[in-house]
Amino acid sequence: MSPSAFPILQLGHPNLRLVSKPVDCIASEMTQSFIQQLLSFVAQAKGMGIAAPQVDHAIRLFIMSSHPNERYPYAPPMEKTVVINPEIIWSSRETEKDWEGCLSVPGVRALVPRHQLIRVKYTLETGEPCETEYTGFLARLFQHELDHLNGLVFLDRVEDNHDIVMEQEWLKLIATKR
Ligand SMILES: [Zn+2]
Repeated sequence: MSPSAFPILQLGHPNLRLVSKPVDCIASEMTQSFIQQLLSFVAQAKGMGIAAPQVDHAIRLFIMSSHPNERYPYAPPMEKTVVINPEIIWSSRETEKDWEGCLSVPGVRALVPRHQLIRVKYTLETGEPCETEYTGFLARLFQHELDHLNGLVFLDRVEDNHDIVMEQEWLKLIATKR
């Protein structure tokens, strides 16, 4: 499947603002084939993650696919993880600001405050329950994707409009910090 076969809803599309419904039939052929399509899509798009609502499926499911690249050399490598019906069960009071971008908001980056450490639970595509902790980049990724399931995008979390920059300027900013 080519990336264009799975159009990504762009900021402004009303469906990006819906609160998604829980997935109640993980084993169904429909859900399983959607998961396979989304996995191959995120691999092709080389995204760090994608949430079902971004491809116009208002269900509580996202994929985490962290890997180091030129823009995020510090992103930890991980197996692609399908996260279904996620919940944050505990979060640290400490927050930290770091850069985020989004396939639904191309060309824009922003400094977004997120909880440093979160304890979460969700269901895997096998139906197995999973409870774990994420810190730093992965905690940020999880919170970013979970927001999509609640109709939020990263710009909604920005504290100051000065923290929003265009990609071209962001590349200059991070180049000077290395
Ligand atoms: Zn996003």
